[in-house]
Amino acid sequence: MELFSPKDARSWIDEAARLIAENAGTLTELDTAIGDGDHGANMTRGLNAVEKKLATTEVSDVSALFKLVGMTLLSTVGGAAGPLYGGFFLAMARATSGKQTLNQRELLQSLREGLADIQRRGKAQSGDKTMVDCLAPALKAWEAIPDSDLAPATIYVAQAAAEAARATIPMLALKGRASYLGERSIGHQDPGATSCALLLQALASVCNSNRAGG
Ligand code: ADP
Ligand code: MG
Repeated sequence: MELFSPKDARSWIDEAARLIAENAGTLTELDTAIGDGDHGANMTRGLNAVEKKLATTEVSDVSALFKLVGMTLLSTVGGAAGPLYGGFFLAMARATSGKQTLNQRELLQSLREGLADIQRRGKAQSGDKTMVDCLAPALKAWEAIPDSDLAPATIYVAQAAAEAARATIPMLALKGRASYLGERSIGHQDPGATSCALLLQALASVCNSNRAGG
């Protein structure tokens, strides 16, 4: 698979919505341990709203799709993660403006712009125990294999993301609600890093399904 089409982008979002809903309980548990227990519900509400909009909207290019996702997440997901994930998809939309399909380099670059937006808004650095600690190492892993096909590349990236999410367990939270806990935030996996790993797992699933690239 070499090109990421609007259909693939749509499948990515559909699969992300499905995976997040399936794992909402886990996200809630993680956020109960070091936050206020709403991350699963927040993400599910946002992606359900996205799915509802997509059911009645024809989106023919990836940029327009990312924009719809970003706007919908911004307006339906509260808390810290809503504006951060909303901004992430809006930055992806800007980075892909005017492009109908994306090659691997363009997809990676748009994700990088998404990460940059999360860091601009949230001011989190690597090691602060946030979604940045999943996304940054995952994209770094991708940068290390720029020439492989999208299908194996996204599998590799999803594995790196899952590992990175687990690696937040021993971290001390320095941003977001979990930082109020101080040392008690240590020993728990970050919910936002976990939902981020699910988004990248969804991307890998779609890039490795038979529909991909079609
Ligand atoms: P809230 O903390 O407002 O209840 P959520 O529970 O939906 O919002 O999301 C919590 C997640 O948001 C955290 O696990 C963390 O990954 C992420 N997060 C919080 N603050 C920041 C920040 N400043 N930068 C990046 N990510 C953050
Ligand atoms: Mg929360």
